[in-house]
Amino acid sequence: MEKNEILVVYGDNPFDMAITIAEDADLATLIGDRKKYIGLKPNLVSPHPAKEGATTHPEIAAGLITYLKKNGFFNIVILEGSWTGASTLSAFSACGYKVLAKETGVKLIDTKTDVYENIDCHGMTIEICRSVLSLDFMINLPVLKGHCQTRLTCALKNNKGVISDREKRRFHSIGLHKPIAHLNTKIRNDFIVVDGICGDPDYEEGGNPVYGGRIFAARDPVLCDAWAASLMGLKIEEVPYIGLAERLGVGISGPATAREINKNSDAPLPPLPSGKTKQLSAGITANKACSACYAGLIFALSRLDKTKRDSLGKVYIGQGFRGSKGSLGVGACTAGFSSSCPGCPPTGAEILDFLKRI
Ligand code: SF4
Repeated sequence: MEKNEILVVYGDNPFDMAITIAEDADLATLIGDRKKYIGLKPNLVSPHPAKEGATTHPEIAAGLITYLKKNGFFNIVILEGSWTGASTLSAFSACGYKVLAKETGVKLIDTKTDVYENIDCHGMTIEICRSVLSLDFMINLPVLKGHCQTRLTCALKNNKGVISDREKRRFHSIGLHKPIAHLNTKIRNDFIVVDGICGDPDYEEGGNPVYGGRIFAARDPVLCDAWAASLMGLKIEEVPYIGLAERLGVGISGPATAREINKNSDAPLPPLPSGKTKQLSAGITANKACSACYAGLIFALSRLDKTKRDSLGKVYIGQGFRGSKGSLGVGACTAGFSSSCPGCPPTGAEILDFLKRI
């Protein structure tokens, strides 16, 4: 498989689809030495099964592990760290990876409990977990889905799972796009398999999965994300970290040569964002808000009727409001507001309960 290629496979069986895409890409040749230490990095942002549209189908990892073992690669691990406030171990369990590890003998690494190293990422020092730095080959397994702050999350943003929670908070405090781009100057993206089976096109924590019936592979994370953005009807400029990563030399955004392995005229249309998240975010004033906090607020607002939402006025959220005064805020950072939902981050249910009482 060439660096400018995107391979697409359609279907309903992620296990078989993953094997097909690995065979077509000749993944074994791309890896080379059978002794290499290989890491699979799924997106397990929170403990919700893949059918809800937020996390990577474990069948894709299972298909790739089967392929790798058949081709003589046995030095394999799965690494992930869920978002701030969520337990990776719960996500491993709820998303089917604990069972997968038991069945395949592949070790699970919770990057939240790893040792971290301060690494220079093209002029920005970032705290990265040691396990990912020791990999010889990394297979990135993102979900094609929307994100309430960055519009899209795919390969580049998925790598945020290998930094500490403290670093995740700092990423938000300095604007997500630039640190995501810098992080990818150091993290390997040797092979990428995107889960486009049923991602939620609006919201990174899922809840409204839209059937997409495809997975696709790439070797360049910038090309991958540029192509993913176009699938979701977004311009590259609407997802600034793609262009920033390209300018830092992480990859090239195009043109891509897309090849459909099992061309299918009945293939479902790619999922398009509904715009609902954008509508809900109009009622929020955010300044350096962490993903888990912001997504929890979006979830809570989506559960309120419009009259109630309008009655709230603006809701403030984010690290930029630490020490500030105001009327209505969410998260410990707005503790100085006259009404503030406690927690760091508060869950969506806690925020909903709090807003209902306002
Ligand atoms: S309260 Fe929310 S925005 Fe503030 S640090 Fe905690 S998670 Fe981040």
